Amino acid sequence: MTTRTHIFVVLASLTLAIAGCQGPGHKTPGVVVGEDTITIEQLALRLGLRIEQRDPTFVVMKNAANTVIVFTHTDGRFFVNGKPMGSVGSVTIDHGVVRVPATLPDQIRPFLRTGVPEQPTTPGPKGAVVIDAGHGAHDPGTISPTGLKEKDINLRVAAKVATLLEQRGVAVVMTRWQDKFIELEERAEIGNRRKAALFVSIHADSAPSSSAQGFTIYVAAGASAQSYRAAHAINQAIEKTGMNNRGIREEDYRVLMKSKGPAVLIELGYLSNPQDAARLADDRFRDRLAQAIADGIQAYLKK
Ligand SMILES: [Zn+2]
Repeated sequence: MTTRTHIFVVLASLTLAIAGCQGPGHKTPGVVVGEDTITIEQLALRLGLRIEQRDPTFVVMKNAANTVIVFTHTDGRFFVNGKPMGSVGSVTIDHGVVRVPATLPDQIRPFLRTGVPEQPTTPGPKGAVVIDAGHGAHDPGTISPTGLKEKDINLRVAAKVATLLEQRGVAVVMTRWQDKFIELEERAEIGNRRKAALFVSIHADSAPSSSAQGFTIYVAAGASAQSYRAAHAINQAIEKTGMNNRGIREEDYRVLMKSKGPAVLIELGYLSNPQDAARLADDRFRDRLAQAIADGIQAYLKK
């Protein structure tokens, strides 16, 4: 973004902030909790957008075809491609986490322009870190006894890792931002085409016995020293979350075998283990995991 357009965005945002405010007479925010609300990250995820800018009063989200601005106060407006389209409804802030109604994605989605290629097929940055949320669409991956689907956990954590890395100035490409199926070879190819600095596939595990517990980092059999270095950095970072550390292992997973550059696959934990499953269902713990993975990736990139 040029300085000039940046100034324009700030000015436009200020104008919108005033326009978005309904004045002192607006109704008391209703307390909305649990399933009825989603975080801003989840909102962006469900709309297939990435968070471009965050401010105490608004958030700017984008993809190749759309810019969405959401004002993060109760009854603030949301703007799609420059036009006010509706109200965000009730907004709550809990421990610094902004939550909006879970119905908001469905309110915004009809206004989004579609028919544009998703991020994986657009010419992204070379040398980016590729984050691959395992499974998607008709392939749910493993499912916990309580019905938690691996594909959703993978995407939730992956999107948070991507957002954190982007905020820290690291170029990131996601293999999918949405609940979409992509072949394993294609996932690896997305990394190969961009000569990825690192390919990181995110999964969750299951085992016949509910006692199997903890996270595992996989590299391909005979993996490069770079893959091992990345695996080690991520392993060290995740260990700090308190998850049981199952170490670094070699396995001929297709996404790892087909990746030409350094590649690792993270199994976050076991959905077949009650404690791991509870943690992987918890948004705050998922954020901690994502933070740890982003820290590990950054530690690897800095060396
Ligand atoms: Zn998986």
